[in-house]
Amino acid sequence: MRCFLNPREAMERRRFLNYCSATGLSAVLSDWSFGRDPETAAAAAGNGTAGLLIADPHAHPYPLRGSRSYDPSTPTIEIMKQLNMALCSFSAVGDMTFMRGHSGMPFADTKNQLRIVKRMEEQGEIRLLLKAADLPALIASHTAPAGLMAVEGGDALEGKLQNLDALHEYGVRLMTLMHERDNEIGFNQRSGSDGPLTPFGASVVEKMNALGMVIDVSHAKGNTLKGIAEVSAMPLVDSHTSPFLPGEEGSGLRRLRTWREMETIAGTGGLVCTWPLAYSGKNSERNTLKQWAEEIVQMKARLGMEHCGLGTDGGGGLPRFVKGWESIASLPDLIGEMRQAGLTQGDIAAYVGGNFLRLLAKCLA
Ligand SMILES: [Zn+2]
Repeated sequence: MRCFLNPREAMERRRFLNYCSATGLSAVLSDWSFGRDPETAAAAAGNGTAGLLIADPHAHPYPLRGSRSYDPSTPTIEIMKQLNMALCSFSAVGDMTFMRGHSGMPFADTKNQLRIVKRMEEQGEIRLLLKAADLPALIASHTAPAGLMAVEGGDALEGKLQNLDALHEYGVRLMTLMHERDNEIGFNQRSGSDGPLTPFGASVVEKMNALGMVIDVSHAKGNTLKGIAEVSAMPLVDSHTSPFLPGEEGSGLRRLRTWREMETIAGTGGLVCTWPLAYSGKNSERNTLKQWAEEIVQMKARLGMEHCGLGTDGGGGLPRFVKGWESIASLPDLIGEMRQAGLTQGDIAAYVGGNFLRLLAKCLA
């Protein structure tokens, strides 16, 4: 338990707990100012993000080891501060030894990547979120953005539950079970097989529930996703995806989600987070911020606003962005389009971070 809260932090904590127990989260969110410094608050007011808690469940804020060129969508600490972000994921890649020919074994390689995140915390650049009780004070801080240590690719476990314990011990609080290859847990969206969650995968899900870690089903193929949803006692998140274009379910880009899959995630009380990837289908496209915002309107109607969120995959090497998106620094422009599309301030607050913070509070408790 955290013992030393100053009066402002104590107030923020009270507000946060009220917020978590509230059924209508959006109204409460718009009231939060978090005592940030006036200059930042004024800047936020100017760009339309005042009163919003921005939280990104999937990003790679430091340049990935071994990547050949710098990805301009990488969120920097400066961008996080300018945007007054409440929290950002710092995701290592668990199957890098397979993807980029990193030497050594996946667990050790993943740990090496995470050392960069630890160093950032030691140098005071970020403050890592380790338990739900610390969330209000971390969010209220205006010294450094809150960081969520994450791993994309359960390959990092090398099929051993004790490696999950070790990652949790090190500070990892979210794991994307699948990434670019089939692993000991299940099957990925680019796989030739729609195989099930494995018995080892089921034990990973149960253990993550018990340890208080967020389960991210991004990249998981249909049957593996279904298996995870059946085993997990906690809400799931798909941290970076978007729906297939109308009439094109199951065709074209394999990283997209069908409505049935998104309903499965929502059915766990979970969250489907949409990203800036641009793509075109036979009869329609998703190439502008306006089309992204209109897609959120559809998701609100079909899934409920409480099941929708933002997930940028910043620094993740997406091949093409919707026009107007460069990095999360472009979020105010998406928010403008969301308003134009008829979404309320409460909807926007829920989408840009409120829903994910609520999920974190539940999963990490
Ligand atoms: Zn990914």
